[in-house]
Amino acid sequence: MSNDTNTPPGSDNTTSFGFRAVRESERQGLVNAVFSSVASRYDLMNDLMSGGLHRLWKTEFVSMIGAPRGDRPFRLLDVAGGTGDIAIRYAESSGPNATAVLSDISPQMLEEGRTKVAAKGLGERIRLTQGNAEALPFPDGTFDAYTIAFGIRNVTHIDVALKEAYRVLKIGGRFLCLEFSECQVPILDRLYDFHSFEVIPRLGQIAAGSADPYRYLVESIRRFPNQEKFAGMIREAGFERVSVRNLTGGIAAIHSGWKI
Ligand code: SAM
Repeated sequence: MSNDTNTPPGSDNTTSFGFRAVRESERQGLVNAVFSSVASRYDLMNDLMSGGLHRLWKTEFVSMIGAPRGDRPFRLLDVAGGTGDIAIRYAESSGPNATAVLSDISPQMLEEGRTKVAAKGLGERIRLTQGNAEALPFPDGTFDAYTIAFGIRNVTHIDVALKEAYRVLKIGGRFLCLEFSECQVPILDRLYDFHSFEVIPRLGQIAAGSADPYRYLVESIRRFPNQEKFAGMIREAGFERVSVRNLTGGIAAIHSGWKI
């Protein structure tokens, strides 16, 4: 399934880019333009837009990876890892032989990530590499865990990315996805809509000089499948024991699945 349509990659039908219909072949370029333009303000804007909440969600998410605190080797692949929040939290909370590959399609986001990883002295444990979630440059069965945080929504063919996640995991490996989802608490959903459509684009204009990337952000969240539908897509990719944990009333959700 592509982001909104049911067509195979290569057919170049239309798909959604936020609320706009675009050709599948142009969508990734538009996404890349968003992230190259926001990269230098990405971390600041996350704090401003979420009031710091994304930090709590990410800490909760990383605690589910189950990385060893002792000496046991463990390999994480963090896809769409951007400026490194997940890989850094993981490396800081695990033992010395727990390593990560942070992969992202955007050179600008990777550059921000590289600077942060170096500043934390984690260069030996976190390797950064450019790559597309739809065609991961790793052999089958390489990783103990695969994470993707606020990334899969941006991928054009989500089903292809999920199959790639399955392929690169070892048997017994865990898939974890942190993503915005469907707010399931009445009243909170109204407040959230107001914040999304009225506050966030204005914050983008004031703090980052442009509202457009932040309009894409809120629109793409509304286009993304809800908890149940996304869990079904994860199962379709081959994962078992698929579960969902809502965060903040479902504004975000953590989906988990196992390659058994
Ligand atoms: N995971 C980080 C975090 O939680 O802060 C960054 C998330 S950011 C919202 C989305 C990231 O997805 C961007 O860094 C973007 O470059 C990346 N991305 C978009 N499309 C991608 C693709 N097809 N393959 C890999 N990364 C992609």
